[in-house]
Amino acid sequence: MLHLALHFLIPALVVWFFYKEQWKKSYLLLMSAMIIDLDHLIAVPIYDPNRCSIGFHPLHEPYLMMLYALFLIPNKTRLFGIGLFIHLILDFSDCVF
Ligand SMILES: [Zn+2]
Repeated sequence: MLHLALHFLIPALVVWFFYKEQWKKSYLLLMSAMIIDLDHLIAVPIYDPNRCSIGFHPLHEPYLMMLYALFLIPNKTRLFGIGLFIHLILDFSDCVF
């Protein structure tokens, strides 16, 4: 449950510190990175709190992070890219603890 809350809280903090001026648009962009969790829908069960997402779900493969890093380069997709990394880091922290 804490994990899910962090998926909303951390992007809110990033927006609070770095994108105060356009917080609505920025928050939406960061949250749009949650789209990679669509791959949970093809997993059985859809959500398992004891499962490590990284390397299990097709959009959570470690090698895809190199691709996701490309989103950080253009201004327009940077927030989406940051959102992806926040998401993956949070998912990964779930695997460690
Ligand atoms: Zn995820």
